[in-house]
Amino acid sequence: MGKKRKERADQRLSDLLRVPSTGAHLHHTATRATPEFDGDKHDAAKALPDLGARLSDLQEQLFAERGRSLLLVLQGLDTSGKGGTVRHVVGAMDPGGLHVAHFGVPTAEERRHDFLWRIRRELPPPGYVGVFDRSHYEDVVTVRVTGAVQKRTWSRRFAAINRFEAHLVEQGTRVVKVFLHISPEESRERLLVRLDDPTKQWKFNPGDLVTRESWEEYLTAYEDALTRCSTDLAPWFVVPADRKWYRNWAVTTLLVEQLEAMGLAWPAPTYDVDEQRTRLLAMP
Ligand code: AMP
Ligand code: MG
Repeated sequence: MGKKRKERADQRLSDLLRVPSTGAHLHHTATRATPEFDGDKHDAAKALPDLGARLSDLQEQLFAERGRSLLLVLQGLDTSGKGGTVRHVVGAMDPGGLHVAHFGVPTAEERRHDFLWRIRRELPPPGYVGVFDRSHYEDVVTVRVTGAVQKRTWSRRFAAINRFEAHLVEQGTRVVKVFLHISPEESRERLLVRLDDPTKQWKFNPGDLVTRESWEEYLTAYEDALTRCSTDLAPWFVVPADRKWYRNWAVTTLLVEQLEAMGLAWPAPTYDVDEQRTRLLAMP
């Protein structure tokens, strides 16, 4: 019983940020809030090293076990911090056990296959943490807003995605989907920084302003996608992302909670430890 209570306590942020069964309501979800974090930027900076170390230990345990994997899916509008999350959160983990993939506008070859084809090729092998900077959710959000794909086609994809993700979970992958939720005001600030700073101009794309013009449509499309595809097996989490320090703390905490919930254990040695020790000590 005590164990069960502990497990609940360990899932606090996950429970709080998880898309509820009533659906995602992004228009009414705060972007500057800092749920579950009692403190400011400096407190977060102090908390992060220990949290990152915990994340790194759990990742090592996942790797040692070599049976299961975790897939972190990052979505959000331009400047929502997907790249920053990869650098700051995922950067705490051992690159040797990581597989990071970014999905841009599909290539001609990718377009010849079904929308999940390029996704399947980047799935994390057993033992690995996979990170998707954009994903198959572009194929129910972006293509819908731009009109690149007809409704008849994208609307069928929700069920296909749920089947695909359920299969992943059955195969031993924990699927953690995070929507980085920023306000249009914060996004404007970040786009201005990109334009003003020569070291960041490469990140700006004139297309970002076109996307910005359809902000409302994107939010609506995301609401549908998060509502239709947040399942018990593969839930969606909405992280308020206007404050980068909160975003980093929250995504790290979510990953720690999700890995802890997997009940990882160090594998038992396949050799006789005492015998090997005796042999080593007898060696010159
Ligand atoms: P970035 O992540 O800033 O490199 O931008 C990648 C761009 O590729 C974004 O504008 C995405 O919306 C776009 N993109 C990614 N996947 C798809 C897709 N399946 N269909 C259409 N556009 C996509
Ligand atoms: Mg971009």
